Amino acid sequence: MVQRVCSRCRQTFEPDEACWRCPCGGPLDVVSREFFRRSDLASRPRGLWRYAEALSVAGALPVTLGEPETPLSLWRLDGRDVLLKNESLMPTGSFKDRGSAVLMTHVRSLGMTKVVEDSSGNAGCSVAAYAARAGIEASICVPESTSGGKLQQIRAMGARLVLVPGGRDAAKAYAEQQAESVTYASHTWNPFFLQGTRTLAFELAEQMGWKVPDVVVVPAGNGTLLLGLFKGFSELLEVGITSRIPRLVAVQAAACAPLHRAFEGGVGRDWTGESSQTRAQGIAVACPPRLHQMLEAVGRSGGEVLTVGEPEIRDTLARFASEGLWMEPTSAAGLAGLRKLLPRVGRGESVVGIITGHGWKDPAE
Ligand SMILES: *Cc1c(COP(=O)(O)O)cnc(C)c1O
Ligand SMILES: [Zn+2]
Repeated sequence: MVQRVCSRCRQTFEPDEACWRCPCGGPLDVVSREFFRRSDLASRPRGLWRYAEALSVAGALPVTLGEPETPLSLWRLDGRDVLLKNESLMPTGSFKDRGSAVLMTHVRSLGMTKVVEDSSGNAGCSVAAYAARAGIEASICVPESTSGGKLQQIRAMGARLVLVPGGRDAAKAYAEQQAESVTYASHTWNPFFLQGTRTLAFELAEQMGWKVPDVVVVPAGNGTLLLGLFKGFSELLEVGITSRIPRLVAVQAAACAPLHRAFEGGVGRDWTGESSQTRAQGIAVACPPRLHQMLEAVGRSGGEVLTVGEPEIRDTLARFASEGLWMEPTSAAGLAGLRKLLPRVGRGESVVGIITGHGWKDPAE
């Protein structure tokens, strides 16, 4: 049985109940006892749908754009061997497709025909694509001032772009208000999105022969990647498929680092820094709704939170590009954090970095 439960007060909600957060304000999580069995996987095609039982959308026809198993490759970085998992090869160019595929499958299975989302970035592109595939009408709310290729990507897929006067917070507030009457396909609030990002943990563990690496380093804004990995690795451990959880290291841009500040002991104060001051716009999130869960994920995995400056982001982007691997700045921020961490990682330990988004997404220098 699939239920949603408040991460704060533990109140439960049925999956089809029309609320996108708990009345107490807490974000919801999906809880389910269903999980895949390793022995069932051998005969199934590659990609996230092979873990179907664990996706909490049993019986629903998958909304899919043909998600691949993304490559895990060995890379020589600053004199060390690291593994890079290339999520930029997902259909819309970022890992967000894992979340959108499962979220849109869930939404369609409830018979919903319209969704609203607020994101001027990869989540907006991804939700627009999967909504188009599902035959669902999507409205994507973005700040009026937003420009660039991601908006074209959203528009091209037939989503309605709603230009909201003001900044990100205004776009978010507008979407939340729309969510009174239309399904809120929020990558941040809707827990079915996280059900999808968990598959990155499953796929990574399977590619490593059901072993997990010692450390996984991720860029973190709203935490859908971080939380999906933590949830996925925790469940693999719980059912006895793996024997531990990797240390999860979250990376933020120094210009917008609420998780870092909270990790260093400053919980409770909103981040008031200037989030526009970083090229890593995909993680420039001043007030992530799931901040407490993100802290818990980092803490319980034995990980940490790092910040990186703009020169480090630029340098890392250029460094990988010079070897033929082009990614967007947000993704380079995560790998800049990995480079910073590397001297402190044991020689015999395995480290995985995630290439979260493609260079075409944000090509300006
Ligand atoms: C969304 C995104 C991130 C950060 O993910 P969160 O879930 O917001 O923490 C990192 N890199 C890219 C390319 C993204 O699109
Ligand atoms: Zn609650």
